[in-house]
Amino acid sequence: MDFHCHLDLYPGAREVHREAAHRNEFTWLVTTSPKAFAATSRALPAAPSVLISPGLHPEIAHERAAELGMLLEQMASVKAVGEVGLDGSPRFRPHYEVQRRIFRAVVARSAELGGRTLSIHSRRAVRDVLADLDAHRGYGTAVLHWFSGSNLELKAAKELGCWFSIGPAMFESASGRTLSAAMPHDRVVPESDGPFAQMGGRPVMPWSAPETAQRLSEVWNLPVGAVADLLANNGANLRRTMGV
Ligand SMILES: [Zn+2]
Repeated sequence: MDFHCHLDLYPGAREVHREAAHRNEFTWLVTTSPKAFAATSRALPAAPSVLISPGLHPEIAHERAAELGMLLEQMASVKAVGEVGLDGSPRFRPHYEVQRRIFRAVVARSAELGGRTLSIHSRRAVRDVLADLDAHRGYGTAVLHWFSGSNLELKAAKELGCWFSIGPAMFESASGRTLSAAMPHDRVVPESDGPFAQMGGRPVMPWSAPETAQRLSEVWNLPVGAVADLLANNGANLRRTMGV
C-alpha cells in the first residue's frame, strides 16, 4: 500500500506504475496540478489498484492558480483529491495568500460535494490547514501527509479526526520519529512520497510499506508483524471511508 505517491514523476514512470500495480494492493497517485491529472490519467494504463487524483500542489500554486476552476470541476467526478495544502516555509511564503485561496476553495468544494478524501501537505502551515478544515465541516476526510508540525499541532490534528500518511524517509529525523511515535495507531497509513522523498540518494519506491512498518515498530515498541497488521487494517478502513 502507498497512500501518497508521485508515481507519474519517477524516471521510467510506466515501469514503476506496472510494478506498483502488481506489487501493491493499493497505490494512491497524487498529481500536482489539474493538467497533470488529465495527462497522467491518459498516459498510464488503467489499473484497478492505482487511484489517480487531481491536485494543486502548494509549491506551484502561484504558477497554476489559473487551473483552480479546472480542479474544482474535476473534483465532481472523483472520490479523492491531492496533493493540495499549504506551505509556509520561507521559499514559498511569498505565495502564501494564493495558496490559501486555492486550499480554502478546495475544502469548501469538498463540503459542497458531500465530502472528499484529501491528501494534504501542511509544512509550516498546520495551524491554517486545520483552521480551513474546521471552517468547512463536511469536507470529508483529511490525510495529512508527512506531518512535520509541533506536538501540539499533532494533538489538534488528532482531535479534528485527521489521518496521517507516513513513509520511511520521515524516520531520518529525530522530530519525525517523535511525531510518528505519538500518532494514533488506528489512523496511520503508509506512503512513499516518491520520487520526492529520497533515502541514500535514491527515491523511495511505492512498495516501501514494509520498511515503514519496521521503523514504526521501533518507535511504537510493538512487534513488526503487529504493526504490519495495524497498517493493513488502517489502509482497509481508510479505503472504505474513501469509497475506493
Ligand atoms: Zn507529495
